[in-house]
Formats: sequence, C-alpha cells, structure tokens
Amino acid sequence: MDSESDICYDSDSKTDANGEEGCFCWDSEFFSNPSKLENDDDYPYSVLSTAEVVDMMLELIKEVNNVVQIPPTITRILLSHFNWDAEKLYDRYYDGDPDSLFKAAHVVNPLIADSRSKLKSTNKSNEFCEICYRKIPFSLMTSLACGHRYCTECWRIYITTKIIEQGEVQSIPCFAVGCDILVDDQTIMNLLDDPKVKLKYQHLITNNFIVCNRHLHHCPQPGCSYVIKVQHVDARPVICACGHCFW
Ligand SMILES: [Zn+2]
Ligand SMILES: [Zn+2]
Ligand SMILES: [Zn+2]
Repeated sequence: MDSESDICYDSDSKTDANGEEGCFCWDSEFFSNPSKLENDDDYPYSVLSTAEVVDMMLELIKEVNNVVQIPPTITRILLSHFNWDAEKLYDRYYDGDPDSLFKAAHVVNPLIADSRSKLKSTNKSNEFCEICYRKIPFSLMTSLACGHRYCTECWRIYITTKIIEQGEVQSIPCFAVGCDILVDDQTIMNLLDDPKVKLKYQHLITNNFIVCNRHLHHCPQPGCSYVIKVQHVDARPVICACGHCFW
C-alpha cells in the first residue's frame, strides 16, 4: 500500500483514470491519503458481495416479519412497496388500518385471508383452466390468495415472460383480468423451473433492494458485482474490492 498504483489501478483500469467516466478519485489529492479511504472513521464503508447483500435483505425481511407477524413472502412485497423503508412500513401498519395498507400494496390481507382457493377444489380430479382451455389434473393447478386459479403451465409461461421480457419483478400482477393482487415470491419460485429465470428474478429483487437503499451502491465497474455499503449517505470516494474507485 505504499505505492499509489497498488491501490486503485489494476491491469487496464488506468485507462479509466484518463477517461470520461468521471471517477474523481484519480486525482493526486485523493491518492495522497489512500489509507484514509480504508479506515476513515469519518466515512466508514464496507464492500459486500451479492450473497452478503442478499443476507442483508433477508435479515431485514426477517426483522420486519418478527414485528408484523405476517408471511415473509408478503413482507417482501410490503417492503418493496415502501422502497424498503421499514419505518414507513411500521408507521403505516400501525396507524390503525392495516387493511388499506394491504390494498395499497396489492396483496390479500394475510390476517383475514380465507382458504377460498383451497376449499374450492376438494373432490375434483380435473379442473378447467380458463387460459388454455384444457382439463387439468387438480395437482397441476395453482391459485393465488385472491382465489384466481389456473394451470401451473400457464402461470409459468406468464411469470417467465414477465421476468425475462419485461423485467418486471416488483409487481407481477395476477393473471386474471382486472385483478391487481401481486404474485408473491414463494409462488413465483415454486412456479419457475428454469434456474436461470429463478436467478434473474432473485437478481432483480436484490437489485431493487440496492437501488432503494441509500447506503448501498453498485460498483460501476463493468462486470463487477460488488456493492459498497456506506454509513453516511453523502458521497465520498470509495474503493471497491475490484480496485475500482468511485463516488
Ligand atoms: Zn392453462
Ligand atoms: Zn387474482
Ligand atoms: Zn468493483
């Protein structure tokens, strides 16, 4: 760490220093205090891997879930609805009208959700899928909390298309026309069978978590998946584990 080039520059990244990316950290003033960046008490930060970000997200879901006591898959949708701001969620949840919160977040109130979808289909060996007009064995049908029920294959095609082609993950609404209830994560993961699509879905959710969190920043270096976690939201130069430096 005694030489400037050991810190930020690595292989071809020096080109970026002269380039247009606006990486302010390459100027001499910055390099005169390299150690400050790594152990700066005024501006502590850490570099996280994607897995660590996912852990952080899951931890927040768990934490909120311990308070509000609803299924985690619903908690995730609520958190997304509030841009991952748990305090806002609590304020709204405890303002005396949680039902309106669930409506606004497009989920069926899990506190009063009945088992309509389960009750409906007892004693039936086959059901009619209103999307593909086929008779489908009961076991190959999937329903949401809103009660809408279609064959698993139709759901899978619908969800996969949404994720791959439209990149919509915050808000995949029910397949039924006019129903604004969102498909929950658990159902989506159960429906998807392609690991690549599953991964893309998880990636997009995580990305939303990062984008909404003022303390997390994607490393802008192409191909780098590290995320910088800062304690203070004002922008200052940080060095990613890949060697890239940015504000
Ligand atoms: Zn179908
Ligand atoms: Zn529905
Ligand atoms: Zn990086």
